[in-house]
Amino acid sequence: MLEAKKLNYRYGFKIGKEKDDFEIRDASLLIEPGYVSCLLGKNGAGKTTLLSLLYGMLWPRTGEILWNGTPLTKRNLTAFRREVAYAGESWCIDGLTVKQNVETLSIFYPSFDKKYFENLMHLAGAEGCMEKLVDTLSAGERVKTELSFLLARRPKLLLLDEPLANIDPVFKLDVLELLQKTVAENETGILISTHLVDEISDMVDYVHVMENGSIVESGSRFEVLGEEGGLRDVFAK
Ligand code: ADP
Repeated sequence: MLEAKKLNYRYGFKIGKEKDDFEIRDASLLIEPGYVSCLLGKNGAGKTTLLSLLYGMLWPRTGEILWNGTPLTKRNLTAFRREVAYAGESWCIDGLTVKQNVETLSIFYPSFDKKYFENLMHLAGAEGCMEKLVDTLSAGERVKTELSFLLARRPKLLLLDEPLANIDPVFKLDVLELLQKTVAENETGILISTHLVDEISDMVDYVHVMENGSIVESGSRFEVLGEEGGLRDVFAK
């Protein structure tokens, strides 16, 4: 379980100087195993910044992140990242095929399951990509491959930054199917950031609404989005 407690962060913070830089203010949230949470906000609301804090790419000025009750520090970051996967970083080595990338990178992840990777690629309709150079994959193939790679690590928690951006609608359904399968089979906790809740509302359990660096509303999908589960304009409130 990942718990963020009152995280505060400011880009370019300088003591004694009044600057109008973007800030994350008092952001708290909980991501439990086996549930899908959504970080919902317009572009510029601070979703990527908050995910970067949760994955230890940025460090909060105040507040703390607890992973299964233990505070995240620079010392335990490597162990944390063996259990937590973040889709947003470039994961692959250009100039190698998908298969060669898997052979190379799986060495670093003891929990990596090659058979499961192949199954996921098949499920995503991307089995034909195994022998392709990663730099020749289309945007959609790249997303599916990256996601299959992350899921085959069998992470306990998956942080996804706008996973459906830039992929065509047919691929989106494949990607959502992959994610649902993972939650069901592995009890993985998932946090997905998006500005388009309609696309994922069916699979989401909890929603956190972000505005201008703060989480302004949190609750179950039905509490936040209403009974129809998605189409209400949460930003209009
Ligand atoms: P979102 O993911 O919701 O679109 P971001 O977290 O990417 O939002 O950005 C939130 C704000 O932080 C934006 O105003 C953006 O310009 C600013 N920002 C992002 N990265 C930096 C940075 N490295 N330095 C200064 N400001 C940044």
